[in-house]
Amino acid sequence: MKPAAFEYQRVTTVAEAVKLLRDAPDAKVIAGGQSLVPLMNFRLTRPSLLVDVNGIKALQHVVWDGTYLRIGSLVRHQQIADHAEIQKHFPVLAVAARHIGHWAIRNRGTIGGSLAHADPASEWPAATVALQAEIDVEGPQGIRTVPASEFFQGYYSTVLQPDELVVAVRIPYPKFRLGFAEIARRLGDFALAGAFVEDDGGQGFVTWFGIADKPVRVHTVLPDNMEARREAWQQALGTLAIADDSKSRRHLAVQMAERAWQHSRLEGGKYLSEEAAGGDPL
Ligand SMILES: Cc1cc2nc3c(=O)[nH]c(=O)nc-3n(C[C@H](O)[C@H](O)[C@H](O)COP(=O)(O)OP(=O)(O)OC[C@H]3O[C@@H](n4cnc5c(N)ncnc54)[C@H](O)[C@@H]3O)c2cc1C
Repeated sequence: MKPAAFEYQRVTTVAEAVKLLRDAPDAKVIAGGQSLVPLMNFRLTRPSLLVDVNGIKALQHVVWDGTYLRIGSLVRHQQIADHAEIQKHFPVLAVAARHIGHWAIRNRGTIGGSLAHADPASEWPAATVALQAEIDVEGPQGIRTVPASEFFQGYYSTVLQPDELVVAVRIPYPKFRLGFAEIARRLGDFALAGAFVEDDGGQGFVTWFGIADKPVRVHTVLPDNMEARREAWQQALGTLAIADDSKSRRHLAVQMAERAWQHSRLEGGKYLSEEAAGGDPL
């Protein structure tokens, strides 16, 4: 199908974008278009105006200052996968980026678009929750900062107001060892289940995605013994409302948590090359 008729405006500043969004409440921001355009083609959404933010240079930065990583909302998934400092200091993010769709999607889709879209099976919402990131949002009243743990409300739902823009994500250097794993039906598909695990030696957190209406971060013990760890994953899962509550989804969630934990034991560079050896031919 083709989208319903719409107006189109390209902007070069956040202020221009916010003004257009404020003046036309059913307007929508378009960034990479990888989620919005399919929805428009199916007429599941019919914005009267598209505000194209791709010309806003101020949203295209990646800055690592030794304490925080700041990623502008227009940074593409593939840029995160390829970024040398992200690979070095946040390998888990570079690995997670490679699991997003196919190359063509990663080459256009943006981190800001992914956060605003809030698909519960997406990597970036879970990554920001797992790494306790903060999300900067700009609207008519200026900039406000929202912890990722409070940003996602449920299926495709966030605290963003219609006249607000995601401008950047700020991610603190992780205190713990981190690992990531996900499983999808085919390479490039959305995850059936995925997990980020932080291990602080004997205890830590698991953040699951694809299994509930939004990413969920749960504290857990992390014993050295694998059987005891499996018990711990089960217990952590037991407290959650799982999407379809099927046995197989629970099984996959436990498997992914365990695999992510195993990955958290790998040194960063080795983790990246092992993942690369797994290969993404797309
Ligand atoms: C075949 C296919 C497979 C995919 N697989 C995956 C996958 O495995 N994992 C995954 O995470 N994603 C996947 N995606 C989605 C992809 O990652 C998108 O890039 C992402 O969800 C949205 O980013 P975008 O920049 O394309 O946003 P757009 O499509 O342009 O916009 C999406 C939504 O966010 C809003 N928006 C965009 N930018 C902003 C902003 N800065 N501030 C406020 N609102 C904004 C738009 O108004 C719209 O509502 C897939 C997509 C396709 C088509």
